[in-house]
Amino acid sequence: MESIVDQNLGEIFYENFKAIGDTEMIALINKVNNKKISYRELFVASLKTARKLKDLGIKEGDFVGIMSDNRLEYIVPILACFYLRVIIHPTNSSYHLTELKHAYSNSKPKIIFTSNDKIGKVVELQNETDYIKKIINFDDNYLDIIEGGAILESIEKSSDCDRKTTAILTSSGTTGHPKSVALTQGNFKFAMSNFKYPIFSYSSETIIIGMLPFYHIFGLLQIISILYYRVKMVILPKFQPVLFCEIVEEYKVPILSIVPSIADFLAKHPIVDKYNFKSVNDIVCSGGALGYEIQTILEKKFNCAVRQYYGMTETTGLIMACILGKKCKPGSIGTPVPGVEIAVIDAQTNNTLGANKPGEICVKGDLVMKEYLGNPEATRATIDERGFLHTGDIGYFVEEGDFFIVDRLKDLIKYKSFQVSPAELEDVLKSHNEITDAGVIGVPDERAGELPMAFVVKVKNSKISEQNIIDYVAERISVQKHLHGGVRFVDDLPKNSTGKLLRKQLREML
Ligand code: AMP
Repeated sequence: MESIVDQNLGEIFYENFKAIGDTEMIALINKVNNKKISYRELFVASLKTARKLKDLGIKEGDFVGIMSDNRLEYIVPILACFYLRVIIHPTNSSYHLTELKHAYSNSKPKIIFTSNDKIGKVVELQNETDYIKKIINFDDNYLDIIEGGAILESIEKSSDCDRKTTAILTSSGTTGHPKSVALTQGNFKFAMSNFKYPIFSYSSETIIIGMLPFYHIFGLLQIISILYYRVKMVILPKFQPVLFCEIVEEYKVPILSIVPSIADFLAKHPIVDKYNFKSVNDIVCSGGALGYEIQTILEKKFNCAVRQYYGMTETTGLIMACILGKKCKPGSIGTPVPGVEIAVIDAQTNNTLGANKPGEICVKGDLVMKEYLGNPEATRATIDERGFLHTGDIGYFVEEGDFFIVDRLKDLIKYKSFQVSPAELEDVLKSHNEITDAGVIGVPDERAGELPMAFVVKVKNSKISEQNIIDYVAERISVQKHLHGGVRFVDDLPKNSTGKLLRKQLREML
């Protein structure tokens, strides 16, 4: 593709698709129902969806929500929104109503795309709020219906969109509840400029497995990368071990983009040995720390490169990566991608640190989000006056340049690489009338990374059990945030003089 500098995202993909002509090259395959769509059909469907959105009065700067598991239809409204410069807001597909309500409280999307199994919650949300004009159900023969409709004839060209928000994703950042991360056209164009850097091993033959959640930055970037390179993606609604192995064997998949819990599965689960993984020549792992032992097992087992990526939602994904063909130091997250300025800052003194000294990793450049939508205070607390975004991760670099993550300064728990905000869980726990106080931490776990676990102070004489509390939480919040690490009753919680919970002490109490 030509230079993307002067184009907006809509133009980039519109031009890219126009170049395909009439060829019926397959773009997406849904492994579960074997539905397929070619790049030409995808282009037509996206133009018809754009036209439909326009006819519904949706215009530049409006928000459109998506609440669905991964499926091939998911990609159609994303493209349509890019053409119209409408802002996409995908959410975790297992959200309960309260989480959904919170997620959309700032963006207030006028349209929400969803599916049969999620529509109940979206309808409830529509009944409780006044901003949703229309719900579009992917399972209502969505692609057949739009097949007959009119198309968007042309897209507006404009090159001044780099500061305009194009997607809202969710992250709780360094502290507090989940927040709406506003990412701009410029942010995504920066991420796309990395596609040429030797960290992506795509070729025209590449086939990607689309199982990282599309609502997460790494899932969304995967979509953007396959559309950019026009390669095939075999989609899984979520990680299903047998189907995953079947896809690798059947489609001779060369690159596996995984998270540490899947690395653990690939390293240890006997089922993996029943399938042919010979096509795999590159494994990239992100979303959490990959243990050195697992990395070594994978390298030996698959006889290929196993590389780490490091990044976050607020930085439009990648900050650092191990470069192809260059052996990273064991356990390293690699080196910064081009155009990124890194400072390792001493959390106490605020001084910038040199080699081998651990401090907070801070990041500056076109990858840094615009803001937390509707939360200027949190934005100011995260991006300092010099423009550095504070990641909340503690790391260091060695003289040769490789970086290592050693700890997390922020409150965030990562369960199978999904974000869990302790503050959000503590609020759910404290809403129970037999709980006076609660503190949540992540318990280290070999497979899942961390398991959310609660220290609970119950009211005097309460008979409430650990299981009662686990169930109470499970009824109110999405599955990743359940108390997989259990509950421990305590008489009180460690707090400082201003009443702030001392999570470090809770960790030490384990
Ligand atoms: P998210 O915004 O959900 O992608 O979460 C970003 C956070 O995941 C980072 O700030 C890190 O705490 C963690 N993370 C991502 N990649 C890595 C990695 N390779 N090693 C250690 N932690 C990581």
